[in-house]
Amino acid sequence: MKKNVAIVGYGGQGGWHANHALKSDVVNLSGIYDIKQSRIDLAKANGIHTYDSFEAVINDPDVDIVVCATPNDVHKDIVINALLAGKNVVCEKPVALSVEDFDDMCAAAKKAGKLFTVHQNRRWDVDYLAIQSLINSGEIGETINIESRVHGSRGIPSDWRCQKPYGGGMVLDWGVHLIDQMLLLIPEKIKKIYCQLRNITTNEVDDGFTLQITFESGKTATVEVGTYNFIYMPRFYMQCKNGAAMIEDWQKKCKVAKLKAWNEKEVVPVQTAAGITKTMAPRDEITLDSYEIERPVSDVHDFYRNLVKAVDGEEEQIVKLCQVRRVLKVMEACFISGESGQAIIYDEAF
Ligand code: NAD
Repeated sequence: MKKNVAIVGYGGQGGWHANHALKSDVVNLSGIYDIKQSRIDLAKANGIHTYDSFEAVINDPDVDIVVCATPNDVHKDIVINALLAGKNVVCEKPVALSVEDFDDMCAAAKKAGKLFTVHQNRRWDVDYLAIQSLINSGEIGETINIESRVHGSRGIPSDWRCQKPYGGGMVLDWGVHLIDQMLLLIPEKIKKIYCQLRNITTNEVDDGFTLQITFESGKTATVEVGTYNFIYMPRFYMQCKNGAAMIEDWQKKCKVAKLKAWNEKEVVPVQTAAGITKTMAPRDEITLDSYEIERPVSDVHDFYRNLVKAVDGEEEQIVKLCQVRRVLKVMEACFISGESGQAIIYDEAF
């Protein structure tokens, strides 16, 4: 049976949840609440039921699930109060501003015996899924290094995202998605973290960062978010024991170069500025197979399909609280490393 969803915060992302719920095969939209009258008026104009207060949302017995889509600094209180009122709760990312706050939210979920999860919707991104399926297929062997980047060129948005008290900054905004993906792509204990925070357009929050992670086996990862990149680097670049892969941009297919033979008989040198080189010359098709893989099929609404089944105890929730906590810990390490300029030796219980 469909579950009834109420949304707290009817801004950009609350609007996304509302539109989704209106078309969903698994949830109905009970209504929205927002502290801004203009957003309430807009919801009414869109034919959506509006609540007069947050209390009215959590006291509505018909509401099964509360979605929190407010700025990051107010997630904690909304989530805890909704859980303790007996609602299942989905919180937008980043779920909290600290691991400590998150632990309080999890304790409330446990006390209430209600489901609590986080909208890590970029687990359904086709670029990420293409890299994940390539790793799982074993087609180009064990992973050596993965680089995951998103680049923009307009600086950080000028709303609450550029203000620290609201939980602004790119580590919390985009970093949370990319780190979440990376920890699933390389499911190993972390040994070391080094992060450079950038302040190109503002000193208030990081407007970009480069994070380097070393895992237990020696595998490495780079996660980078930039908002001052007038030429973009590829979305994904991956080196494996038996080849390499690259996804240039969101809409592009994954390019794969699979090693067929390590030794080459003839290497045609390439001309460089100072002379010729065989070391840096490209491989030929006798030793390398180059091809593209089809973009995986993905439906982000599977998040809600899983959520409803998880509420009914029919499926395990896909976005698990232990995974969310691990990402928050890495983000905390990013700030410690970024502010101190030091790498962090990470002793992780995994
Ligand atoms: P937004 O500024 O567009 O909207 C936030 C809304 O919350 C505003 O309308 C504001 O009036 C309202 N609000 C603020 N405090 C409130 C309160 N106490 N009670 C009720 N309403 C309140 O921001 P946004 O872009 O929609 O982001 C909201 C959340 O969604 C953030 O946590 C953000 O990180 C997340 N988000 C997630 C994704 C994703 O892909 N998962 C994308 C964008 C934003």
